[in-house]
Amino acid sequence: MKPCPECGIQIANDAKWHRCGWKELERGERPFVLCAHEGCPTKAEIRQKTPNGWANFCIKHYYAYHGDRAKAACAARGLNTVDQMKTDFLSMSKDFAKQLEEGCSDVHP
Ligand SMILES: [Zn+2]
Ligand SMILES: [Zn+2]
Repeated sequence: MKPCPECGIQIANDAKWHRCGWKELERGERPFVLCAHEGCPTKAEIRQKTPNGWANFCIKHYYAYHGDRAKAACAARGLNTVDQMKTDFLSMSKDFAKQLEEGCSDVHP
C-alpha cells in the first residue's frame, strides 16, 4: 500500500487512480494546473509572466489580466474614456508612422 498523493488514504501500490480524483499521469500528459486567479476553479491554459513571477491562467483570466494591465496603463497616462484612449492611440500611431518614415529616409535617401 502507498498513500494517495492527493488525499493520503492508503491505496494499492500499483494504483493508477483514486476515487478522490487523483490519477497517475501518463507519459507526456501535462498535470492539471489550476488557474492562478483566486477562487477560479478552471484549468489553466496559459503561462504568463507577471511582476510577481510566473502565473498560470485560464483563458478568461488571461484576458482579464491583460485587460487590467491595459486599463492600468491607460489610467497611468491619464486616459479614462474610450475617446481619450482612441485619440491617444491615433497620435501614437502617427508618431510611429513618422518614425518609420524617418527611419526609411535614412536607408533610402
Ligand atoms: Zn485519494
Ligand atoms: Zn481563471
